[in-house]
Amino acid sequence: MALHLATSIIDRDTIDAQKWLDVVNTRLGIRNNADVRQKVINIFHIDILRADHAAQWAKLRHNWLRLRQSFDEQLTFICEKKTNIFLCWVVQGDPIVHLSAQYTKSPPSIRIAKLIHERAHTVLNISHATIQILLPSIRLLTMRTATSG
Ligand SMILES: [Zn+2]
Repeated sequence: MALHLATSIIDRDTIDAQKWLDVVNTRLGIRNNADVRQKVINIFHIDILRADHAAQWAKLRHNWLRLRQSFDEQLTFICEKKTNIFLCWVVQGDPIVHLSAQYTKSPPSIRIAKLIHERAHTVLNISHATIQILLPSIRLLTMRTATSG
């Protein structure tokens, strides 16, 4: 793949990741929305309105905002020549995102979710298992249900 084509795909994916995270953070900012409250309870077991959950809620908000902010920082990508079982990956302690040869051939929604996943490893320093919970929550939090506004 020509370098400029890969670069334009990565640029677009980075912008889309910012948009996804903007939606999540906007949704999480609506405290008195029953749909948001229920989803946060279902996914994170945190009740936005409970005083004894305030610290966990603050940390959750902070983490999502930090993740969004991390896409405004200098991002370094390495396009690897080989395919890999991972579409992309990071090495612990190193913010460089490695993209496998099949990255640009994968659907945009998968690529963007993976980029957010890898940034979460780097800036939140959280485990793969924790991110497996975090990522489906993007889908839930950005999806409007029939009953929500
Ligand atoms: Zn991971």
